[in-house]
Amino acid sequence: MIPRLTDRPVSDSLYHDFAAELRLRGFEGELSASYADRTVLSTDNSIYQVWPQLIAFPKHADDLVRIAKLSGEPRFQSLKLAPRGGGTGTNGQSLSDGVIVDVSRHMNRILEINAEERWVRVESGVVKDQLNAALKPYGLFFAPELSTSNRATIGGMINTDASGQGSCLYGKTRDHVLELSTVLLDGTLWHSQPLAETELTAIKQRDDRVGSVHRLLDAIFRDDAALIAEKFPKLNRCLTGYDLAHIRDEQGRFNLNNILCGAEGTLGLVYEAKLNVLPIPRCSALVNVRYTSFDAALRDAPALMALNAASIETVDSKVLNLARQDIIWHGVCEFFPDDAEPAQGINLVEFLADSEDDLERQLAVVADKLTVEGSANGRCGHTVARGAAAVNRIWGMRKKSVGLLGNLQGDKRPIPFVEDTAVPPENLADYIAEFRTLLDSHGVAYGMFGHVDAGVLHVRPVIDMKDPEQEKLVRAITDGVVALTQKYHGLLWGEHGKGVRSEYAPAFFGPLYSRLQDIKAEFDPHNQLNPGKIATPPGGELLKIDAVPTRGQHDRVIPISVRQGFDEGLHCNGNGACYNFDPDDAMCPSWKGTRERRHSPKGRASLLREWLRQLSLAGVDPLAESTRLRATGNLAGLFGRLRNTLAKRRGEADFSHEVMEAMQGCLACKSCVGQCPVKVDVPEFRAKFLELYYGRYLRPLKDYLIGSLESTLPLVAKLPGLYNAALDSGLGRTLLRRVGLVESPLLSGIDPVAELARRGFALATPARLQRLAEAERARAVIVVQDAFTSYFETELLLDLFELLRTLGFTPLLAPFAANGKPLHVHGFLGAFRKVAGSNAERLRALAASGVPLVGLDPSMTLTYRAEYAKALGKDAAPKVQLLQEWLASRLADLPKRAVGMGSGYTLLPHCTEKTNAPAATGDWQKVFAALGLSLSSKSTGCCGMAGTFGHETDKRELSKTLYGMSWAKQVEADRGQGRLLATGYSCRCQVELIDGVKLAHPLQALLQELRSA
Ligand SMILES: Cc1cc2nc3c(=O)[nH]c(=O)nc-3n(C[C@H](O)[C@H](O)[C@H](O)COP(=O)(O)OP(=O)(O)OC[C@H]3O[C@@H](n4cnc5c(N)ncnc54)[C@H](O)[C@@H]3O)c2cc1C
Ligand code: SF4
Ligand code: SF4
Repeated sequence: MIPRLTDRPVSDSLYHDFAAELRLRGFEGELSASYADRTVLSTDNSIYQVWPQLIAFPKHADDLVRIAKLSGEPRFQSLKLAPRGGGTGTNGQSLSDGVIVDVSRHMNRILEINAEERWVRVESGVVKDQLNAALKPYGLFFAPELSTSNRATIGGMINTDASGQGSCLYGKTRDHVLELSTVLLDGTLWHSQPLAETELTAIKQRDDRVGSVHRLLDAIFRDDAALIAEKFPKLNRCLTGYDLAHIRDEQGRFNLNNILCGAEGTLGLVYEAKLNVLPIPRCSALVNVRYTSFDAALRDAPALMALNAASIETVDSKVLNLARQDIIWHGVCEFFPDDAEPAQGINLVEFLADSEDDLERQLAVVADKLTVEGSANGRCGHTVARGAAAVNRIWGMRKKSVGLLGNLQGDKRPIPFVEDTAVPPENLADYIAEFRTLLDSHGVAYGMFGHVDAGVLHVRPVIDMKDPEQEKLVRAITDGVVALTQKYHGLLWGEHGKGVRSEYAPAFFGPLYSRLQDIKAEFDPHNQLNPGKIATPPGGELLKIDAVPTRGQHDRVIPISVRQGFDEGLHCNGNGACYNFDPDDAMCPSWKGTRERRHSPKGRASLLREWLRQLSLAGVDPLAESTRLRATGNLAGLFGRLRNTLAKRRGEADFSHEVMEAMQGCLACKSCVGQCPVKVDVPEFRAKFLELYYGRYLRPLKDYLIGSLESTLPLVAKLPGLYNAALDSGLGRTLLRRVGLVESPLLSGIDPVAELARRGFALATPARLQRLAEAERARAVIVVQDAFTSYFETELLLDLFELLRTLGFTPLLAPFAANGKPLHVHGFLGAFRKVAGSNAERLRALAASGVPLVGLDPSMTLTYRAEYAKALGKDAAPKVQLLQEWLASRLADLPKRAVGMGSGYTLLPHCTEKTNAPAATGDWQKVFAALGLSLSSKSTGCCGMAGTFGHETDKRELSKTLYGMSWAKQVEADRGQGRLLATGYSCRCQVELIDGVKLAHPLQALLQELRSA
């Protein structure tokens, strides 16, 4: 059995004392020193990993004041603080070995929207897309764009002065900040905005920190103007952090905000911001130009920009090919047709206008140019995407590019450290040519894309940071790139801030660096706020790019075989796409419902890595242990497990318990598998973890009940009345609750085999299938049963057979056998493999007849192509299609007459289905359209049920919360109309339990329409 894991760094007593004192002083948020929370916040999206000692989740500005004041007291002046928002920085900006002050958990309210005057006031933990969703009804938006817009916070954007696509038109975050509210380290709440001369004079007379800061900055502005003009490049991206070139704004007003924006949490804790917002452009289009080479795409950009384009983004073939393999491609493939020779680069050229006519006029000019010039400049074709929906889908693909780069195979992965250089756009192509030569000279692969209009290039060299030799390339390549950016009059830090790369600031700023140090010392005399980044007070030391612990150094402790055995969890690169704020997006319900980052795919992957590292340090091979467990069976080690469980009850610590808590919050909805750009598969590694955890501790009884459900249901279904009466009784419910289950569904009481036989349908056996004549075989289809539909929702199965018969097909029923999914979800992996093996053999025997197999429940059906393929190998997994996949392949065989006169339905697909089989919703739409019916689909999050998750007592509340976040409003909108359809058994069950509404399956809507036609 795996050992108890206790060998973890404890936090320093200084930080214990700090936390205790904060509580005494009325700190209202949470303080956590748990190793799990510290591990989850020990990474951002950079190559680094630094464990904090303490995490504070402040509730409001008063909590920030308490933190600031206390840390300024002499006994705590050696304590370090790092503010944190979404944690999406790529250079270790929010990492700290001190206290992380995470404002994103609670301080995330939109406080005021003034549509008339076009501004908003928000707390700093608000996510950028959250703000834009709230502004949309007013026709407004917060313009600075960044790829991480669905998880990066306004506080983080302000502190990195974020910008991205469209920056030539809209500028950077700083350009939209009207006022900032910041807690300074002496505990002062300071409200900064552009100041008139008289106001500045008055403030300079104050004898507190506010006064001294203003005095210093004004002096720098006056004394160092010439040096500032010489050192600060005239680039669209300017310089982030202590932007001395903009101490005064364009109107000559003193503006402290320009110093605070981009300060990376080194000057103060921002708690509120008043931001300028803009009208959403009425009409937009993207011209997508394909090229024979990436270089051609780069060199063509200025010519396209001259056509009055709003922005241009370039993507290379590596990124494009990765996008082709991702779920995102389904929404954009029509705009990137295949050429004879695959395109090596693409320019996405955006046009905006206030009217369709204007837009069309602009597009006509572009079309003329592209047609007349033909293949000039290496162009090989173009498409045009019109309208916000199509344009946003393509921008979505571009935004996912960085994440997609992480989805390479093997141990070498694209990593960020020189990924956001900026040079004047006219130098970009030559600069990139040299950049590529530099990377080639080190023999590293890479993918590239960027904001060519602003001269910003994104590149992630492909390096295995677990290899100490390859790790050295970080220094060699960075030094080379720094020299190149200087040669081309650009910046190493064009977009993602400095962080650990601040090491290069003194060389870049020259004599001006000491002025940055003076500013830092004035705001933060004891060097407590994010020390070592941007600037230190005089005498202090900046961090060094190769002297901060990296993730690779930690991960290399795990033996290669173990890394390979847990491959589905180890490559999370921390890009944070799973922190998506949108309640109507499937990605990750447990994070959205709890707002606890350990309950996210990234959180769970981080804990898994640390858990494997600790096991490795203890000399334990988890793969060997799992083989041993499967061989010895359940009873072996029972006494030891009992003893360990009693110790656990007595409160004996074990890091595995902390990992377990995070794993238990997972719904196994598999949205991460479909949507994570790196394809992190939490349910897969969670199952492996559970297997090992329960090799040391006793399993709860409910796991055995759920795991064995598929085998027990056929038995209890023989006495449905008795089973239902028992479950529905007070005693039954109490007993069930005791075991840890609630709201268990009742049996339908219909024997599917007998009822189908009565209706003239046959069982599918190899012998019967053999006897089918050629013509019969051509119209036959085998329906693979799943336990939930067959025993709880038998009417649906019967309706399926009726539908197929009405459509002219011959459905046959595969005899029931367990699928094994519940076993997999709960980590009974040995049993799952056995069940999967025998079921696969049976299904393959049926499939050998050439008659296709279809399944009804999406989650159970998709198990055949995912978990079966992993456990048994791809070739051994039977091919079972989703009903709509098969129907969509038989459109030609459907009735030729329209049956529904265009009646409209709305589909709410199952999470696993829409994220793991992204074409499936479109398949239903094709089938509906073929029968003259229209079907739209709504974006929704998870319904909260996810198999048996919502039936577990301790999960029921979270399950209901999740339902309320997204599904409830769709069900309410449809109330009484009966046009809302759901594919998932779990989803329909949840809607009925909570809202008392029985949603139909799409097949039932089709049957109904056919019957009434
Ligand atoms: C895949 C990927 C794509 C990216 N694309 C872009 C892009 O297109 N454009 C771009 O500009 N950036 C991009 N970034 C970088 C990153 O998303 C931005 O820097 C973003 O602004 C960080 O926001 P955050 O909320 O995650 O901040 P964090 O990473 O949590 O923090 C960033 C910095 O801000 C400080 N900070 C955070 N909140 C506060 C606060 N309330 N008070 C004081 N200091 C605070 C932190 O200490 C830290 O120094 C990308 C990153 C990734 C992983
Ligand atoms: S789990 Fe996936 S989406 Fe989440 S941070 Fe890791 S790689 Fe990114
Ligand atoms: S399976 Fe679902 S709940 Fe679990 S981590 Fe993945 S997205 Fe989150």
